[in-house]
Amino acid sequence: MILKSAPELWFDPVPWIDGKSCSGTNAIPVCNPATGELIALAERADEKLLNLAIEGAVKAFAPWSNASAVLRGGILKLVATLILEDRDRLARLLTLEQGKPYAQALGEVQYAASFFQWFGEEARRVYGRIAPHADSGREYWIEKGPAGVAGLITPWNFPLAQGAKKIAAALAAGCTAVWKPAERTPLIALAMGPLLREAGLPDGVLQIVPAPGRLTGRVFADHRSIRVLSLTGSTATGSDLMVEAARGIKRVSLELGGNAPFIVLPDADIELAAEHLVRLKLFVSGQVCVTANRVFVPSSIESTLVDAVAEKILAARVGNGLWEGIDAGPLIHAQACQGVDGCVDSAIRQGAQVVCRNQSYLSDASLQQASFYPPTVLRRVQDDMSVACDEVFGPVIPILTYEKVPEAIRRANATPYGLAAYVYGRDLSLCRAVASSLQVGIVGVNEWRPLTAEIPFGGVKASGIGAEGGEEGLHEFLSTRVISMPKPSPGSSDPISP
Ligand code: ADP
Repeated sequence: MILKSAPELWFDPVPWIDGKSCSGTNAIPVCNPATGELIALAERADEKLLNLAIEGAVKAFAPWSNASAVLRGGILKLVATLILEDRDRLARLLTLEQGKPYAQALGEVQYAASFFQWFGEEARRVYGRIAPHADSGREYWIEKGPAGVAGLITPWNFPLAQGAKKIAAALAAGCTAVWKPAERTPLIALAMGPLLREAGLPDGVLQIVPAPGRLTGRVFADHRSIRVLSLTGSTATGSDLMVEAARGIKRVSLELGGNAPFIVLPDADIELAAEHLVRLKLFVSGQVCVTANRVFVPSSIESTLVDAVAEKILAARVGNGLWEGIDAGPLIHAQACQGVDGCVDSAIRQGAQVVCRNQSYLSDASLQQASFYPPTVLRRVQDDMSVACDEVFGPVIPILTYEKVPEAIRRANATPYGLAAYVYGRDLSLCRAVASSLQVGIVGVNEWRPLTAEIPFGGVKASGIGAEGGEEGLHEFLSTRVISMPKPSPGSSDPISP
């Protein structure tokens, strides 16, 4: 059953520059990954239009950065309110173009709003400080101010929330910005233009321009007014962008790929671990940088975990995200399915065993043109199989066994990535010790989604540089100026003596 009909587009799917829609250069077909149907032809920006967008942000910079933090924060909080008021329509659009189940899309809309709320509040908490000088007649004033115009580049897996994290932080800091959403999912991004305007955001403060990735990276890097490049994407893309950014010595903030270990300790509540693992892997069909990519379980309890996980995977409902009660939608496109299949096939050739695959969607005729990948459980996986060492963006659960906890920690850390990790166990001291030994940016202990606007989220190693959320997220868009000042003269009277 269709949950509700798809929303008609209520905005022009074209670049949003200087507070209005502008004709783009050529069209991007946006298709529903659950059916293959064309939803809209969005227009993209070329180099000229990208530069025009940057110039608009440059013009808007002085008034926006000089506006009071209270005013800026107030507008951002109003954006949060407007997003929440429009949550149903936005979530349906998100499901339509990205494929994730409606309930997950609604969660993303609320998560996006929470960043506007959080940074709307944080805008008022950008403090400087005064430090002592070696010369007793002077002091240092340490000021924080907006770093400049920011170039924001986001992927298709959380096309609204990834943008919201960056936009809200940049604008709260007093920066203006150009946002380039992924070309697979430009619609939900372009829907934000009119909404930001309704919240009172001055024209030019945020431009939204779908455009090719490599071109955007080069144009952003070459423009002298862009001072911060913030990207969420693959590690390879992050590396390319850093090379571009090096030419103009631009600051980069990078949220990149992951290869999260999910460590089940010997005393874990297996039912809880299995339930959370399945929810984590079905979330956006595993197309998430923090999804579990390697499940480490003691060999003595492997069968119990495998049985519990398989039962839940087979019970999941896989289908069109606009249907009621769907747990997992399609992958973003057919090539994504081929990529995941390549990893799974090679693992099987190397000795991994398929425990189960949920192909329930095959019986529905309306889904035959779609890009579904069956949620799959694999056991007897080895560390060097690509299904365990590459970032597999799909609903595949590779199960590996270990004998001793230190061995699990060593193998969990034996990856170039360092984004997220999960630890399941009843002995919380042991959980804490294991968590502290992991080379990652965030660890969930008996929790599968430890992400919220209040905390900094960012990886180490090849998973990125910098953080989003928390107070740290704001600092990605602030620069520091130190002023060495003579102290005011104390005058003739001593104010402390009676
Ligand atoms: P994914 O594989 O999830 O699409 P990508 O890293 O390819 O991740 O893309 C993330 C975002 O980065 C997208 O908006 C994409 O257009 C953009 N992008 C891709 N290549 C580059 C590049 N060389 N420079 C800047 N942005 C890029």
